[in-house]
Amino acid sequence: MKRITILGSTGSIGRSALDVISRHRDRFKVVALSAGSNIGLFEKQIRAFTPEIVAVANEASAQELRKRVGTWHAVSLLSGQDGIAEVASYEKSDFVLSAIVGSAGLIPTISAIHSGKTIGLANKEALVMAGKIVTEEAKKYGVKILPVDSEHSAIFQCIEGHKRSDVRRIILTASGGPFVDKTIGEMNNITPEEALKHPSWDMGKKITIDSATLMNKGLEVIEACYLFGIPPERIDVLIHPQSIVHSIVEFNDRSCIAQLSVPDMKGPIAYALSYPERLDDIVVGLDLERISSLTFKRPDNECFPCLSYAYRAIEAGGTMPSVLNAANEVAVAAFLHDKIRFNDIPVIIKKTMDCHVPQPETELDTVIEADRWAREKAEEVIKKLKIKN
Ligand code: MG
Repeated sequence: MKRITILGSTGSIGRSALDVISRHRDRFKVVALSAGSNIGLFEKQIRAFTPEIVAVANEASAQELRKRVGTWHAVSLLSGQDGIAEVASYEKSDFVLSAIVGSAGLIPTISAIHSGKTIGLANKEALVMAGKIVTEEAKKYGVKILPVDSEHSAIFQCIEGHKRSDVRRIILTASGGPFVDKTIGEMNNITPEEALKHPSWDMGKKITIDSATLMNKGLEVIEACYLFGIPPERIDVLIHPQSIVHSIVEFNDRSCIAQLSVPDMKGPIAYALSYPERLDDIVVGLDLERISSLTFKRPDNECFPCLSYAYRAIEAGGTMPSVLNAANEVAVAAFLHDKIRFNDIPVIIKKTMDCHVPQPETELDTVIEADRWAREKAEEVIKKLKIKN
């Protein structure tokens, strides 16, 4: 029986993971959960999976939850950063699924590594902000990081059993999001509602907007650099609107191995949970005859400059990826609140990066300070932009 912790259990990845676990109760036992502020759903999850320890983001939510759960179930109920860190390092757990969205996932992921758990990493920001620290600490504590992002799970599945020195190139595929065929002029008046309609993947709001700007792919390039120890110049991106080929590894002999399946996050989640074994019928079968054609094209850098900013950030190194990520989080939140236009997102990121002198990212504090600085700077840039009416 594998004992599982899920950080961010009420989010899209967390819910899918619990769905997989509910169908394999003979293999997995949920022992610890953390959530943000969706108390209604969290209560249901606690009742359904009876974890031993849980934490929520703040004390007000914890009090509400205590009222609701009452004495029904003997669960340790904690709150705040310390509470989530305690859940992340819970001693009776074997595996931590790190699925908190955004930079908030960094510290709990480090806590889980320090307590020696196997990590299923769905939170990409931990690697984007502090890839060097996260991978070095994982090595130091003998911790395996299993990627849950679909592209990285694909690469992991293709690369296993091969020498890293035999890998020539990684090709990350991108659905391209809903606006892949639009011109830059057409993109100016995109509303949050339009941007939230993703053609192939069902995901949370933040990542859906990141998919529409291609920043998601940019963050994934950085993630891949650290996960697989491959430099950015050997990582390419291709738009593949069908989202069937999840990524490709090209070897020195020019042979390529790809991983294919229907686009469903339960696939990579289940693979990380059950690794090195595979569970039966996690997603529906692939009907290539019905899909009939798989297409690929290069991303348009003029319409989607975020991808090139991510390359610029990883090449600059140090704290620059952290700044890229923080400026993007601020810009996406402003877009979702209708404060800026869709095409302003890359402008805010670029202006924030232009003002930053990268520092070496050897200490967690330096990374967190860069994140804080970038948020402030990005807010400043937004204020200076013409407010959308
Ligand atoms: Mg992905």
